Amino acid sequence: MSLIRSKLFWKIAGLYVLLSVPAIVGLVAALQTRLYADAVALHEQQLQAVLRESVKRLCDAEDAGSAGEEVLRIRAGLTGGRRVWLSDDRGFDPAGRLQSEFGDAVLASVLRTTAATGTAVRYVRPGWETGEVLATGQRFSMLGADWNLVMTSPSSAAVEASHQMSVLLLKSATAAWLIGALCMGIVAGTIVSPLQVMSRKLHADVRRDDRGDMLLNVSDRGDEVGDVASALYQLEDELQDRIVSLERAGREAGASVDLLTAVLESMIEGVIAIDREQKLVFVNPGARRLLSIGAAIQAGHRLYEAVRIPAFLETVEESLSVGRMRTLEYRASRESSHHLLTVIPILRGPHAGAVIVVRDVSEVRQLEAMRRDFVSGVSHELKTPLTVIQACTETLLSGALEDGEVARRFLCQIEEQAERLLQLILAMLQLARVESGSEILHVEELELGDLAGDVVDAFRAVAENRGVQLMQQGAATLAARADEQAVRTILSNLVDNAIKHTPAGGEVVVELRASADGPTLVVRDTGSGIPEELLGRIFERFYRVEKDRSRERGGSGLGLAIVKHLCQALQASLTVRSRLGEGSEFTVRFPRV
Ligand code: ADP
Repeated sequence: MSLIRSKLFWKIAGLYVLLSVPAIVGLVAALQTRLYADAVALHEQQLQAVLRESVKRLCDAEDAGSAGEEVLRIRAGLTGGRRVWLSDDRGFDPAGRLQSEFGDAVLASVLRTTAATGTAVRYVRPGWETGEVLATGQRFSMLGADWNLVMTSPSSAAVEASHQMSVLLLKSATAAWLIGALCMGIVAGTIVSPLQVMSRKLHADVRRDDRGDMLLNVSDRGDEVGDVASALYQLEDELQDRIVSLERAGREAGASVDLLTAVLESMIEGVIAIDREQKLVFVNPGARRLLSIGAAIQAGHRLYEAVRIPAFLETVEESLSVGRMRTLEYRASRESSHHLLTVIPILRGPHAGAVIVVRDVSEVRQLEAMRRDFVSGVSHELKTPLTVIQACTETLLSGALEDGEVARRFLCQIEEQAERLLQLILAMLQLARVESGSEILHVEELELGDLAGDVVDAFRAVAENRGVQLMQQGAATLAARADEQAVRTILSNLVDNAIKHTPAGGEVVVELRASADGPTLVVRDTGSGIPEELLGRIFERFYRVEKDRSRERGGSGLGLAIVKHLCQALQASLTVRSRLGEGSEFTVRFPRV
């Protein structure tokens, strides 16, 4: 049944019919023609043999009478519808009148030809249905005169013989065609059915379990179809494996690409990939931000269209030409920002070109500068007291020790400088602790009024000594959430600074304000004030507005830095307002309770 549905089977069958039917028909037709021709030729030969025999008998006739009798005998002895006529050139028939079935015209034509050529001729009467007639004649001499003996024979015998042969031929051809068709069917079936099984398998129409045996059967045939089948199954299995691994690889590659893109896009560093011709292949958002590359610049644009920094482009060019990594630090267009460029060439492979990484190193450089400043600041701060101590010691050792009064003065100076060193080191340690966050703060509810009163009392004597009036104003009580020791340090440093920078006759006020934004402490003085452009710098370590004078006044240069970091740790805001020659005002606002 499945063969009947097979297109290939019907194609082979159609081809068989197309080729075999014309071939057999042509062969049968050719053979039929040939058989008929052979039958006619035989018939003719036999007729001529009878004619020759008859002529021979007539030639032996001794007179016209015996010739006539002989003709009659010949005529009587003829079988199979044969007929004979004897005539002289004038149509005389010694055995009687000429008899003709064909009419005089036909016979006359045969006689004329025979008379002219003296040889046998064949006359074919037109029209196959009415039968053919063979006619043959011979001219001979008898009793001193020329005679024509003509014999005719219907071709029906020959036609009949050839017809029978044709029927036999047709039967044989039909049988041969049917045997051929059967063979074709068997051969086509053996080709088509395994192909159908393979096709079903390949289309996965057959479940995997079922198809195992069938496929095995086909591939076990041991012939070419079996080989093709087993090769196909192998191919199919390999393809299945390949598809699975390709799908897996595709999924993994997709995930890797997504991951890589996400990583590159979230990087702070700028990353640019270029090809050998310095055309952009990839630009991450970091690079766009750092190098101010607009959205109009996309992959395919030249690097110089995106970046217009000559040193940058030269470094890339050099790295590509020598095939080695190159770095460059340059000052970016933005004020005080430094970029570090690294160019890594990719020498081979489909992505040959370079990867460019740009990092903003401004902060690192700033930190380095701060560290340098800090080291030089510390060295400087330590140097002054140590120099004094060394000078005093030398003076004492070189004889001043003998003089009690002088010795005492020098020793006092040594003590004073040692105290200054101690304070400096304590301040540095505190700053380091506050900065690193290791200073443990106990944030609790405080009464700022009492605390401010304590600090004011502590500095009262110092203020009086300097002729400065120190007073507390504002709210008598003010609650805040903060660390008591930290607030005490903040307030002490601010009051100390205010007294130090206020000339005699001036005043320093500590004011408590119950502001809506939070409890606020203000330390205000009528001192020297700070130039406006330096207001941002006074919180840096060791920064002093009037260097020598501040140092003379015994400042470490760390007081305001400690205040700033403590305020940050307490989440309090610190602001300063100042006018040169009029005074300064430092405000600390604590978070709302
Ligand atoms: P110092 O120990 O030198 O006072 P600070 O860090 O406390 O160091 O202060 C830094 C600098 O700020 C001081 O050297 C001084 O020049 C300036 N300054 C601080 N407070 C005042 C103030 N109330 N009036 C004027 N200048 C001040």
